[in-house]
Amino acid sequence: MKLYNIKENEEQVSFGQAVRQGLGRNQGLFFPQQLPELGDIDDLLSEDFVTRSTKILSALIGDELPKEKVHSMVDAAFKFPAVIKEVKPNCYALELFHGPTLAFKDFGGRFMAQSLAAVSEGGKTTILTATSGDTGAAVAHAFYGMKDINVVILYPKGKISPLQEKLFCTLGGNIHTVAINGDFDACQALVKQAFDDHELRTEIGLNSANSINISRLMAQICYYFEAVSQLNKQERENLVISVPSGNFGNLTAGLLAKAMGLPVKRFIAATNTNDTVPRYLETGVWDPKPTVATTSNAMDVCQPNNWPRIEELCQRKGWGLSTLGRGAVSDQQSANSVQELYDLGYLCEPHGAIAYQVLQQQLEPGETGVFLCTAHPAKFKEVVDDILNCDVELPGPLAKHSVMPLLSEELDNDFVALKQVLRRVQG
Ligand SMILES: *Cc1c(COP(=O)(O)O)cnc(C)c1O
Repeated sequence: MKLYNIKENEEQVSFGQAVRQGLGRNQGLFFPQQLPELGDIDDLLSEDFVTRSTKILSALIGDELPKEKVHSMVDAAFKFPAVIKEVKPNCYALELFHGPTLAFKDFGGRFMAQSLAAVSEGGKTTILTATSGDTGAAVAHAFYGMKDINVVILYPKGKISPLQEKLFCTLGGNIHTVAINGDFDACQALVKQAFDDHELRTEIGLNSANSINISRLMAQICYYFEAVSQLNKQERENLVISVPSGNFGNLTAGLLAKAMGLPVKRFIAATNTNDTVPRYLETGVWDPKPTVATTSNAMDVCQPNNWPRIEELCQRKGWGLSTLGRGAVSDQQSANSVQELYDLGYLCEPHGAIAYQVLQQQLEPGETGVFLCTAHPAKFKEVVDDILNCDVELPGPLAKHSVMPLLSEELDNDFVALKQVLRRVQG
């Protein structure tokens, strides 16, 4: 597999380099040089999730990794299903939250962990990351128990929800969690300091589990195929998929799936009031406003870091950006949609409800709609309980972790102290 840097096209890397490096020069994102077309799509759709995903990812990765290796990576990463549920005629929810941390990020995070292990150049690796809650959980569970990889996760003490903390600070083993006496920015600054320390970097094999890593998007392509495989032939013909978007990785993966031959008539970019992209698609002006806090906080993003990949793909395929559906939804509207779905017999949290809301507005007669449900309702329990006046039950994994003891150590906002922890963990 060959990829190039979108900003500096002459920088070209292999899959292994792209996975290890994350970002290219000048903060440029890597993009595949070739997007293989997958041949007989109906045939492919009749395969099971792991077999089909192995074919898709092997076609992308090419001869850099043997197919058997890709198969074992997919098998280890995709241990939970992506299921379609009908909420009303011609309208389906795609549930992506059956993984260990109850959000779609488990697919990408776990495949990235497998990829990093597969392309590592030997020796030990230390993954260092800062989290304000959700990413840390996905990273921790993705790398838990992996050989020769230590994970250190920094988070602001007392500033993440108790449930979030329980989800990733109770694992132990190769997962080390550190509660920093400071805020999230302080945690991020410590991580940056560590990466700027070249001596430390080589000594402990420092690596990041960055959200712009191409391996994440590659994994996410696979569940779009899995979704379509669960629809009948007629429904596949006029399919519209609505994606609740923050950094726009999920939508990028959907468009990549389409470029590889998945039959999708139209994608919809659905956001909350952080609506840089919908406004851009209306007016042609890129004009990010300050980020506002919403009840769908995983989408509180004003400078979506995957957007350049969407522009690149659309340009290469000759797809006009105007063919993308779009819509921005307020907290009040998303609460109404959570209620509307509940009345239809479907329990949904605000991110999924936003995708549903925009889909409802834009679905035309004869079309079949799918909206992505990116998180389990229990993950946003406070909001959902409040809207529906109910008491959402915690699913198994969350309930199990909620009674386990916290294993975090506490640390001052001090780089020298952090260095000691990193060396000890590595030792
Ligand atoms: C991360 C996240 C999103 C946004 O996905 P992007 O790929 O960043 O657009 C939406 N919903 C939930 C629950 C998330 O965690």
